[in-house]
Amino acid sequence: MKIKQMPLGPLGTNCYIVYKGDVALIIDPGGDEKEVISFIDQYQLKPLAILLTHAHFDHIGAVGALRHLYDIDVYLGKDEQEWLENPHLNRSTLMGMEIRTESPEHLLTPGKLNIDDFSIDVLHTPGHSPGSSSFVFTDDELVISGDVLFRHGVGRTDLPGGSFVQLQSSILNHLYHLPDHFIVYPGHGPKTTIGEEKQHNPFVPGQV
Ligand SMILES: [Zn+2]
Repeated sequence: MKIKQMPLGPLGTNCYIVYKGDVALIIDPGGDEKEVISFIDQYQLKPLAILLTHAHFDHIGAVGALRHLYDIDVYLGKDEQEWLENPHLNRSTLMGMEIRTESPEHLLTPGKLNIDDFSIDVLHTPGHSPGSSSFVFTDDELVISGDVLFRHGVGRTDLPGGSFVQLQSSILNHLYHLPDHFIVYPGHGPKTTIGEEKQHNPFVPGQV
């Protein structure tokens, strides 16, 4: 499996395209759909689905365009079921925009998710937002962590439905249980590893 990181949209949010052979999953397309389309065209990929770590405006700006262009389904945590169709809930109104697309076809719950040849362990990792999910690709030893865990940082918890206590528990009890060498691909900024964050994350240090 290969992974392409692409900062997109008004905040340069990391979109990830994971692909294997000629099939791909699009994760968190925050905007600038033309960049996604041109990558897909260049590598002659067939997108199978859009997966969302959560539905804040900066992660979903290109969902509407891409789901219709490729006729693919959207997966989102069950606690944010209504956020795609509600610009107040996805907070795009705060940016003077109205991002709105249909509700997800599939609601994510913790556990195994298989899409074609892709096998994903979905973790429910709330704290930054109530429906935040992290996507673990165990065979490839990586996790896509959305806005839960960043390199030497964590997602903000002051937005509606946020909670630092929950965030801390998501990180300590889920993400830090992954092997130290697993690569973390966050929603913002550069990649890191579980071991690096357990040792050096100033907000949620790993238990010694
Ligand atoms: Zn967010």
